[in-house]
Amino acid sequence: MSSSTPLVCGFARLTSCSGCQLTLLNMTADLVPLAARLSVVAFSMASSAPDPGGALDVAVIEGSVSSPAQLSTLLALRRRADRLVAVGACALSGGVNALASGDRDALVASVYGAPEAVEESFPPQPLSRFVQVDLEIPGCPPEGAELVALFGSLARGGLPAASDYPVCMECRQRENLCLLIERRIPCLGPVIRAGCQARCPSFGVACEGCRGMVAEANRGEEFRLLLETGLNEREIRARLRRFGEEA
Ligand code: SF4
Ligand code: SF4
Repeated sequence: MSSSTPLVCGFARLTSCSGCQLTLLNMTADLVPLAARLSVVAFSMASSAPDPGGALDVAVIEGSVSSPAQLSTLLALRRRADRLVAVGACALSGGVNALASGDRDALVASVYGAPEAVEESFPPQPLSRFVQVDLEIPGCPPEGAELVALFGSLARGGLPAASDYPVCMECRQRENLCLLIERRIPCLGPVIRAGCQARCPSFGVACEGCRGMVAEANRGEEFRLLLETGLNEREIRARLRRFGEEA
């Protein structure tokens, strides 16, 4: 694609809070130059114009898949799009949507009343369970700069590189005290993929793992360090599972 040809983009939301789309809309300083490079044909949070259909250079999708209707939407977007990008913890792992377990009808009834009043649903699943995903942008929500970098890379014909080193590296670069080692606060930074500039520990808040695990996470050592903070094994497993990681 020539660099002067606008990218035809479609944004879609499945089961999620719209926070990923909102993050992009909040990048106001970057949106004006970006707008000249994009032809956005679907973006429900920014425009009520109907999706005209047709081929897409890129489909950007947030949210987990939790109903047959959403699965149809996902499959249709996969067929239309040259590249499909999953954005945010829900799309990558199911996210917090996937935390509840147990009888599905009982769960639906506890939220909506009669289960038959809402559309058929199933436990929230990541996009990659159903379709090929060309790029995953992690976070809850993702970093706005990573979303902007996505379109810059696509305009040049490629995809941005994903970071695969832990949050601790960025945390120490910011010269933070270590919450885990020095204050015995249960931080997941040693096993979680960086890219957020250690946003939470920099404010004294333990990393909850929203960006998902690095490929070579030392889960055993992290488990041992978390035990030293006073959490029991059940609590540690729950913490590691919060954003979809099996413990
Ligand atoms: S506070 Fe958390 S992220 Fe920062 S160095 Fe310690 S364990 Fe790593
Ligand atoms: S520090 Fe951890 S929880 Fe906070 S934004 Fe970064 S990856 Fe997510």
